[in-house]
Amino acid sequence: MTFDINKIQKDFPALHQEIYKKPLVYLDNAATTQKPQAVIDRIIKYNTYENSNIHRGVHYLSQEATNAFEQARIFIKEYINAAESHEIIFTKGTTESINIIASSFGKKFLNKDDEIIISTMEHHSNLVPWQQLCIENEAHLKVIPINEKGELLIDEFKKLLNEKTKFVALTHISNALGTINPVKKIIEMAHKFDVPVLIDGAQGIPHLKIDVQNLDCDFYCFSGHKVFAPMGSGVLYGKEKWLEKLPPFQFGGEMVENVTFEKTTFNELPFKFEAGTPNVESILGLETALKYISEIGIKNIADYENDLLNYATKELIKIEGLRIIGTAEKKASVISFLIGNIHPYDAGTIIDRMGVAVRTGHHCAQPVLDWFNIPGTVRASFAFYNTKEDVDKLVEAVLQAKKMLE
Ligand code: PMP
Repeated sequence: MTFDINKIQKDFPALHQEIYKKPLVYLDNAATTQKPQAVIDRIIKYNTYENSNIHRGVHYLSQEATNAFEQARIFIKEYINAAESHEIIFTKGTTESINIIASSFGKKFLNKDDEIIISTMEHHSNLVPWQQLCIENEAHLKVIPINEKGELLIDEFKKLLNEKTKFVALTHISNALGTINPVKKIIEMAHKFDVPVLIDGAQGIPHLKIDVQNLDCDFYCFSGHKVFAPMGSGVLYGKEKWLEKLPPFQFGGEMVENVTFEKTTFNELPFKFEAGTPNVESILGLETALKYISEIGIKNIADYENDLLNYATKELIKIEGLRIIGTAEKKASVISFLIGNIHPYDAGTIIDRMGVAVRTGHHCAQPVLDWFNIPGTVRASFAFYNTKEDVDKLVEAVLQAKKMLE
C-alpha cells in the first residue's frame, strides 16, 4: 500500500479535537499512542456481541471468544516471526513481561555472585526488576556505558561479558534518547557466552520490523498501547527452550493441568504463564492494530518517520540555545531537548497551552539523565500520523516558551 497521510489521519479520531481552543498536536507517542477507528470498533464489537470468558466454556460465545483470542496469538506470532504460537505469552504490557522473566529466571538460574548486564539507557521497567533480583540473590548488576551521543560502547560490553554473566537485558530503542541499539550484535556476542538476552521492545515495535528469529533474541517484550492498541495488552515472546525451563510466575486458574490439595501440575505453554482471565478485548485490539500497521507497511512507516525525524531535528536546532539530548547515528522518532536554562516542566506547560502535547521529566529513565547531568528534558515523540505541520507547530510553541521564560 502507498502511504496516504490524509487517510491515515482520518483513521485516528483522537487527533481531530481542540484543546485550549487550538487543534491538538499529539507528540507524546513514546508514552502512548492513539488508536485507529478499526481498533476502537474491534473493542466495541467484542463488548457488544462476543464478551465471554475464554478457554473454559463449551457454549457458543465462549468458543467464539477463545477462537478469536487464539487467532490473535497466531497473527502476532507471524507478525514478529516467532517459530511457534505457544512462544507468544499475553501479558498486560512490557513491564509485566519483563517482571515475569526476571522473577522466573531469577528463581531458577541466578545464584550469589552471578552477574546481569543492562545498559545506562534502560527504562526503569528494564532496570528495577533486575536490580531488585540482584539484591535478593546477592548477584551483581553491570551496566553498559554510553558515549555523549547516547550510543552503547560495544567494546565495554565485550569487557563486561564473562563466565559469571547469567543474563543480558537491553532496550531496543531508548524512550529517552531515541537511540536504536545494535541488538542483533549484542545478542550474538552474549550467545558466545551462552547468555540469554531479553530485548525491551516497548519502543521497537511501533517503529521497526521485528523478526525475533532473525534477531535470535531469547525474549522480546512489548506493550499494546505503544503500538496503537489498547492499554492492558502486552506480549512476552520467549524461545520455547527457555519458556519450557522456566517456572511459572503467577499461580491460579488457566495455568494448571491438575490440582489436588497436595499437588498441582502445570498447563503446557503458553498457558503456564497466563494465570487468570486475560484482557481479551485489549488483545483483540492489539491484533487489529498490528493488522492496521501491516496494511500500511512497517517499511513505509519507518521511511516516513525517518523523514519526519530529520525535518524536526533540522528545524529544532535552528532555535538558539536549544540542545538535543541523544544524537545517535541511528535514531527513531524521539527528540529530547532542553531550551537554554529553562526548566523542562515550565517549557512543557507553555508548549501544552499552545495545543502541543509533549512530555517533560525523566521519562522513567532517571539514570541516563543523571549521566547527562540534567534533571529531565522536553520530549517530542512522533508516530506515522504526525506531519511536518505538527513539527512547525512544535517549533512555534518552543519559540513561545523561550520568549516567555527566558
Ligand atoms: N520500556 C520502555 C523503553 C518504555 O518506553 C516503556 C514505556 N514508557 C516501558 C518499558 C514500560 O512500558 P509499560 O508501561 O507499557 O509497561
